[in-house]
Amino acid sequence: MSVDFIPLAGVIGHPIAHSRSPRIHQHWLRNRGLRGHYVPMDVHPDHLEQVLRTLPNMGFVGLNVTLPHKERVLEIADLVTDRATLIGAANTLIFRADGKIHADNTDGYGFLENLKQGAPDWQPEAGPAAILGAGGAARAVVASLLDMGVPELLVANRTRIRAERLRADFGKRLRVVEWVQAGNMIEEANLVVNTTSLGMVGKPELRVPLDGLHPGQVVTDLVYAPLKTHLLAEAEAAGATIVDGLGMLLHQAVPGFERWFGERPEVDEAVRKAALR
Ligand code: NAP
Repeated sequence: MSVDFIPLAGVIGHPIAHSRSPRIHQHWLRNRGLRGHYVPMDVHPDHLEQVLRTLPNMGFVGLNVTLPHKERVLEIADLVTDRATLIGAANTLIFRADGKIHADNTDGYGFLENLKQGAPDWQPEAGPAAILGAGGAARAVVASLLDMGVPELLVANRTRIRAERLRADFGKRLRVVEWVQAGNMIEEANLVVNTTSLGMVGKPELRVPLDGLHPGQVVTDLVYAPLKTHLLAEAEAAGATIVDGLGMLLHQAVPGFERWFGERPEVDEAVRKAALR
């Protein structure tokens, strides 16, 4: 790398204005005194491939990828990690010096690191996990929990066929539960994870029965706006340990930052504040 080289990275999506990734990466760059820039880019799906082939020639070393491009980038990338293939989506691209585009998915990593940081006493093997939802984020969560040795994953989704597909892809440690039975599933679980968009600002509230929440459980929500969702507030009131979704967003950003800018950043209170600003 020449001394004059200033690495560029960014996030592509459509739309992109809502993304908090620029605040996170810009905070780390500034805080660590590193040379580099991180920019949000609104890329229409029709232009995705052209943009991905052009950016490396302009000094870009990689990208984060958000909706609606997370699946499509797998077809364009030259190399795809096993976990991104299994999940069926990528959120981190590395533009290699040999011109190849490398695609990875760090959502599962971010999910687990957040859980470990927020609930250090959680023991994966101690009991089943209840997963609400079966979309793209659920696939990353399921893959990471299976890796950690969680003995059983109970999955309830409004559209049952999507949960069945998860079971077909991830195997027998998954049990599909009817959406209307989600309350019972929560009661049984050692860990409860909301991977639906319910409870997010502008979306309907999560309306599954929550009276089965109890002390000794760990409850986490992928939704981070608001930070304390209705699920987390109810879980806290029931005496459970709660972990909000912002930490997942911060931790999933770490591997990309390290690859692009050469230093592993900290997930601390300062970057949380920067992301929320
Ligand atoms: P997705 O693929 O579109 O999946 C959405 C999920 O929400 C599906 O399970 C869907 O069920 C369910 N859902 C939506 N509306 C519903 C309703 N009215 N009633 C019942 N279920 C409903 O989205 P995703 O990529 O998995 O993302 C899900 C959430 O996770 C989003 O809020 C996203 O912002 C958040 N997320 C957070 C992080 C983080 O770092 N914290 C990372 C990734 C995602 P159906 O299958 O029935 O439609």
